[in-house]
Amino acid sequence: MEKINELRERIDEFDRQLIKVFAERLQIAKEILTLKIGNQLKADDSKRESEIIEKLFSEFGDKISKYTIEKLYRTIFSISKESFKNEHQNLTAIELLKLRPIMIAGPCVVESREQVFRIAQELSEIGVKLLRGGAFKPRTRPDSFQGLGDEGLDYLLDAACKYQMYTVTEILDTEQLERNYEKIDIVQIGSRNMSSYGFLKQVGRLSAQDEKPVILKRGFAATIEEFLNAAEYIRQEGNPNVILCLRGIRTFEQIDSKLRFTPDIGAIMDLKERTDMPVIFDPSHSTGVSRYVLPIARAALAAGADGLMVETHYSPKEALIDGFQAIFPKDLKVIIDEALN
Ligand code: PEP
Ligand code: MN
Repeated sequence: MEKINELRERIDEFDRQLIKVFAERLQIAKEILTLKIGNQLKADDSKRESEIIEKLFSEFGDKISKYTIEKLYRTIFSISKESFKNEHQNLTAIELLKLRPIMIAGPCVVESREQVFRIAQELSEIGVKLLRGGAFKPRTRPDSFQGLGDEGLDYLLDAACKYQMYTVTEILDTEQLERNYEKIDIVQIGSRNMSSYGFLKQVGRLSAQDEKPVILKRGFAATIEEFLNAAEYIRQEGNPNVILCLRGIRTFEQIDSKLRFTPDIGAIMDLKERTDMPVIFDPSHSTGVSRYVLPIARAALAAGADGLMVETHYSPKEALIDGFQAIFPKDLKVIIDEALN
């Protein structure tokens, strides 16, 4: 017993030293991140992270396994990035989602570092805090541009850090989410995946660890009941923070209508009566026409939507995907001003 107590005392002393050293390391990491962001350099440097792990392994590999070093350092790296972000943002994404209206805006797809920085700047100037941008795009044709992948997400994160915003992005499989978990503040599940129940469960399980918010978009042929049940697949894995997003449904109108989908405005009221989950509306995909976006956004808010997700671009004509439905940040400002007054 005495021996155990003696060993415990030694452990306690090591813990004090560990925390002290860790706090200093955290401080230095934050300084580096601040310098990087200020100089428009990439915040995320996975090459450098792997080099650190390799170096430690070559020096201490006889005392501690590569697996342990890797696990420990991946955690340290993500804590450093998280705490940097938290310090620069006075609210968490979960807290921000309690404000009304919830305003999510950004390009359909991250096209380049410059593009996303410019849009983020313009949106932050009009008070938008939630920055959307696709890195993995679910395109109808396999030969269409599919997004910049992990690299696109790095740009989105860096722009979000610079302008004190949060990242909202769609993932198409759980590997994408696992690989990029720390970079994503709000996970988006697209319309086309609403009924992939295995995927919903996996996202629910992964995101339950910190109750990271998940936006679930309505399948364009899903009933209200199917939509709500899909949300439950996520919630039953332990994450209550699901936000429902209506994005238009396909009806006979699409035979000859200018509208890309039929805006399901009435469903806002129906959902609000059936669930406490926030209900937001996407006037971009539901109309597919830039000039219809503002009127439909207004209609959605008037019907009781908790917020909007709107595709915006500083130059819709040049957008690589969905430019025909993008609006300028200054147009979005009109809606924001109306909603807040
Ligand atoms: C999107 O929001 O980028 C998107 C692809 O929307 P949806 O899943 O509603 O088609
Ligand atoms: Mn789009």
